[in-house]
Amino acid sequence: MDHFLYRDGVLHAEDVPLPEIAARVGTPFYCYSAATLTRHYHLFDEALAGTDHLICYAMKANSNLAVVKLMGDLGAGVDVVSGGEYLKARAAGIPGERIVFSGVGKTRAEMRLALEGGIRQFNVESEPEMEALNEVALSMGAVAPITVRVNPDVDAQTHEKIATGKAENKFGIPIAKARAVYARAATLPGLKVVGIDVHIGSQLTSLEPFELAYAKVAELTRALRADGHSITRLDLGGGLGIPYERSNAAPPLPLEYGAMVRRVVGDLGCEIEIEPGRLIAGNAGILVSQVIYVKEGEGRNFLILDAAMNDLVRPAMYAAHHDIVPVIEPAPGVEQGAYDVVGPVCESGDTFAKSRMLPPLAEGDLVAFRSAGAYGAVMASEYNMRPLVPEVLVSGDHVAVIRERPSFDEMINRDTIPEWL
Ligand SMILES: *Cc1c(COP(=O)(O)O)cnc(C)c1O
Repeated sequence: MDHFLYRDGVLHAEDVPLPEIAARVGTPFYCYSAATLTRHYHLFDEALAGTDHLICYAMKANSNLAVVKLMGDLGAGVDVVSGGEYLKARAAGIPGERIVFSGVGKTRAEMRLALEGGIRQFNVESEPEMEALNEVALSMGAVAPITVRVNPDVDAQTHEKIATGKAENKFGIPIAKARAVYARAATLPGLKVVGIDVHIGSQLTSLEPFELAYAKVAELTRALRADGHSITRLDLGGGLGIPYERSNAAPPLPLEYGAMVRRVVGDLGCEIEIEPGRLIAGNAGILVSQVIYVKEGEGRNFLILDAAMNDLVRPAMYAAHHDIVPVIEPAPGVEQGAYDVVGPVCESGDTFAKSRMLPPLAEGDLVAFRSAGAYGAVMASEYNMRPLVPEVLVSGDHVAVIRERPSFDEMINRDTIPEWL
């Protein structure tokens, strides 16, 4: 459920009609619902109620400062994957003790940054990283809390570009090697082992791969404890999928996920961390765009929008589906037609949907891409010298532009011409 609904025939974000925002901000723009973001956080919080837990919002899904602050105010921690995200989380008011640091290529500079500013744990992904972190911590007279991210060799049954838990993926340490790696960690005075981490991929639509992975983590927890390690935290990663197509079967709910987590790892007495990104932000955001032209082609009609692949890359990058709906509600029973929905960028990859059935649309009409709040604005670029798409947050009848569209002057002046040219 989200808070983008038709009221009196007009699509609203909570209490605000979208045409009002379009008139103020121009199109295209992202619009997020604070109530939906809040609701999704609470779904996870309730799913793990009664179990010691921390929800570490994976801010790479949507790292707008206002969104991260909203999460922090609800009590969430965050999962960061770069020094930049770490600094942004701090700027959004997230205390260091609620930040976990993931990623296969943390640099020494990023480690230093996090150790200086305060960090809950590093999720270490390789032995060279472990040695480097030990050195950095020792050089600062610090001790770095760590988990080791294990790769359980489980098929997440998701798009190949966002599967991370198979042996062939670059992530984590093979689970079979984990005991040896933990034994090494225990000898490094700059590190303190606190737990185990696993994250097998994104947009999972079944609980089975999670359960397989978590069962392996439970087994490893027992083995590591028998080896003398103190395992007090399990970071179970993110990855729960969302319904991108309303017509498809819905993925499992956080409540079902939470019940599975308790069943599989609940008896270990560990604090549970989870890192949801997409499920928190995905259906809490839409991308609103305007029809520039309707072009009649050979046997097909093109709906040419003012949004493009640089604003929302998921269809071009992952062949992802986004429901597209008109902002003005079509009359009931109106006949739909097939459109290829495209943007103005100069490549054929700039296609959002082929043969999509939509009600009749005309120049100037507004449409909304649903489920665009995660991996939308964060992946946007200025390809074709198109300004970075602005972002708007709505809460009840409050509207705020939380990232302005840059002006062409700003964009041009970011480049410099060398004096010798
Ligand atoms: C991307 C990522 C997440 C979030 O995944 P979602 O599918 O958005 O929930 C969590 N943890 C790590 C380590 C990630 O890389």
